[in-house]
Amino acid sequence: MIRPRVSRRSPAVLGLAFSLLLLAALPALAQEAPPAAAQDAPAATAFDATDPRWVPGVPVVQRPIMSGRRVELAREYSLVHHGIDDWKLEGPLAVVVHFTGTDSLAGSLGAFMDDELPSSRPDIAAGGRLNVGVHYVIARDGTVYALMPEYAMGRHTIGYNRVSLGIELVGSRPGSLTAAQLDACAALVADMAARHPGMRYLFGHHEYEEAGRAHAVLRLELLQGYAPTVKIDPGAAFMASLRERLKARFSLEFLD
Ligand SMILES: [Zn+2]
Repeated sequence: MIRPRVSRRSPAVLGLAFSLLLLAALPALAQEAPPAAAQDAPAATAFDATDPRWVPGVPVVQRPIMSGRRVELAREYSLVHHGIDDWKLEGPLAVVVHFTGTDSLAGSLGAFMDDELPSSRPDIAAGGRLNVGVHYVIARDGTVYALMPEYAMGRHTIGYNRVSLGIELVGSRPGSLTAAQLDACAALVADMAARHPGMRYLFGHHEYEEAGRAHAVLRLELLQGYAPTVKIDPGAAFMASLRERLKARFSLEFLD
C-alpha cells in the first residue's frame, strides 16, 4: 500500500512527446552502461530492452514514470539494499500485488510520478531517496496503466524489489476491489507468466513477511535496521480469488 499524494506534475506535462522521448531513451540508457555480468553472459541471457518479452500482451495505457533521475536513484537504491550496481531487476522471478490505499485513480497514479520520495513518507525515508514505483496500476474499471518497463526495478516491497514486478490495484481497503480489477489482474499476471517462464512466485504485499511462504527464498535486504512494515494490502480474499482465477482460467499455479 502506498500513501497517495497529489503530484506536482500536471497530466498535461506528461504529454505524448515526453512519453515517447522517455521510452526512446530507455533502451539507449541500458545499452550505454550494461552491467559487467551481462556483457560476459551468454547471448541468450544478455539484457535487451527491445526484446518482445518486455511488451505486455494485454491492453495497457502508457503512463510512464521513468526518467534519468529515477534510473540514477534506482541504481543507488539497489547498491545500498542489494549490493548490486544496477537499476534493472533480475528475472523477473515474482509478482507482488498491492492496493494503493485510495479509491482515487488520479491520487494513485500521482503517488508514483515524482522521482524522489516525498516528505509524506517518513516511514520509509531511511530506505533511500527513490520514490515508490510499480510496473502497473489497475483502475477500478479494470483499465491497466503501464508506469515502468518490466526490466526496471521498482520500489514497492521491502526485500523483494530486486526480483519482482509490482501491480497496484486502485482501492482503499481489503474487500473493496472490483470484479473488473480481478479480471484484469489475472489476465495481466497470466500474460507476464507467458512472457517470463522464470516468474514462479505470486504473493500479496500483506503476505510478504508471513512465516513459511515459499517466496522468502528470494528475500534480499542488506540495509541494517531497515525493518519491514506491516501491510494489509491487497487482502486474503483478493489473493484467494486471484489464485483461483489463474488456476481455473489459465491453468496457472504459482509458489506463494
Ligand atoms: Zn503494498
